[in-house]
Amino acid sequence: MTRPIHHSIGGQLVAGRSGRTAPVYNPATGEQSGTLSLASAAEVREAVAIASAAHPAWAATPPLRRARILNAFLRILEERTEELAAVITAEHGKVLSDARGEIQRGMEVVEFATAAPQLLKTEMTENVGTRIDSYALRQPLGVVAGITPFNFPAMVPMWMFPVALACGNCFILKPSERDPSAALLLAAWLKEAGLPDGVFNVVQGDREAVEALLVDPGIAAVSFVGSTPIARAVYETATRHGKRCQALGGAKNHMIIMPDADLDQAVDALMGAAYGSAGERCMAVSVAVPVGEATAGALLERLVPKVRALRIGPGTDPEAEMGPLVTRQHLDKVRGYVDAGVAEGAQLVVDGRDFRRQGYEQGYFIGGTLFDHVTTEMKIYREEIFGPVLSIARAPDYATAAGWINAHEFGNGTAIFTRDGDAARDFAHQIQVGMVGINVPIPVPMAFHSFGGWKASLFGDHHMHGPEGVRFYTRLKTITSRWPTGIRAGAEFVMPTMR
Ligand code: NAD
Repeated sequence: MTRPIHHSIGGQLVAGRSGRTAPVYNPATGEQSGTLSLASAAEVREAVAIASAAHPAWAATPPLRRARILNAFLRILEERTEELAAVITAEHGKVLSDARGEIQRGMEVVEFATAAPQLLKTEMTENVGTRIDSYALRQPLGVVAGITPFNFPAMVPMWMFPVALACGNCFILKPSERDPSAALLLAAWLKEAGLPDGVFNVVQGDREAVEALLVDPGIAAVSFVGSTPIARAVYETATRHGKRCQALGGAKNHMIIMPDADLDQAVDALMGAAYGSAGERCMAVSVAVPVGEATAGALLERLVPKVRALRIGPGTDPEAEMGPLVTRQHLDKVRGYVDAGVAEGAQLVVDGRDFRRQGYEQGYFIGGTLFDHVTTEMKIYREEIFGPVLSIARAPDYATAAGWINAHEFGNGTAIFTRDGDAARDFAHQIQVGMVGINVPIPVPMAFHSFGGWKASLFGDHHMHGPEGVRFYTRLKTITSRWPTGIRAGAEFVMPTMR
């Protein structure tokens, strides 16, 4: 019997009643570690009802008190980072140091959200008319849902719920069914920090649970992060049902290497950005674009030995730089892309397909893989692979390189490595991508800025966390008030104007 993985609803662990379950695996060993309950639509509706019942009291809780609960949660996260990191590594596969890093980035959003009283301050104008004042309120939406991907089981939920809770909303999290346990720890720790029951709930599930959330009239807004086809469908269904929605999708992030770049710096940056977390990051660099043949040659000379020397192993091995992929199906998919690249005529410089780690033969491992002479028509260039596969697409000049990025379907992140201020400035201003790095390979904005891509990498109007997060999770109300003065002007039938 494997460990049952439950829902967390109304502050309690709740066993699933749908009769539907899914296996959860340890990607390093290939062994099943848990059996996940998959919620039925009825179970989702019950969770929404519980969250709705908790909402009036939470919305009326002073923001400072909400912030104190988030502060207590932050302290728990600090003290128990190792416990959470171990849970992430056991189900996702990423190396422990990387799991700690994702928790740190999530904690920064909690830190940002502890400024709730400041973040919710609004504008006021005295005397918009004689003895008339006007002020604004930012009020919570109600019950909001977060639907999250496998690749950051703690950080991506923490892009969402700290800000949502700080703003006075109740939250229903539907984590990825591949690594669902981190969400339950977060729920337990929020309760321990003093969060009232029902304010934060975890509903485990798959498509059925997502579809129930998208049509439930009790859900006011949906935050989604995942692949582009699902993001697009979630956005369309949620908005058709009158909900506010931000749906972040897939990516194909390019890094331009200009002839004047510091190549050693660029190569180190590429190694981490392409192969860190086995390439399973929406901000991973999957296409390197050296400008000019000389740059390409010098880049490869430095890069190839490093890709061959990547230390790959279970996430619990402190020496490992890269762990396994998340599932057997994903491993097969990534291998399939490598096969497709070879069939399309790209030059396979480093082939990771046959990588084996002794003692972990059933794990979902693939070695670092490098293609050269990749062209823009190839499937491995157009599609997101989400594995440790880096493509080199050689560009004759900067304009061609920038043109490729602008023409690509995705627009999540991008970077340029150069010493040329002119090129860097042009890149920052002209490129059609949401997050841009200049000599920074993974330009993930800090918690007090906002995260989001352009084009098929984001559907909706708001990016996540930072000021955009506060706007997404609140709605604006503007109040105009006049108090009786004893002076009566009589009824007026013209449009009110300032006097
Ligand atoms: P996914 O789209 O398969 O799953 C995401 C969520 O959607 C999960 O909770 C899953 O249960 C649910 N889901 C899956 N299929 C569904 C369906 N048919 N109907 C309704 N819901 C469904 O994504 P994933 O494989 O878990 O994550 C990897 C993807 O996420 C990559 O494409 C990556 O680029 C993307 N991602 C994007 C960002 C970003 O900020 N843009 C961040 C992280 C990950």
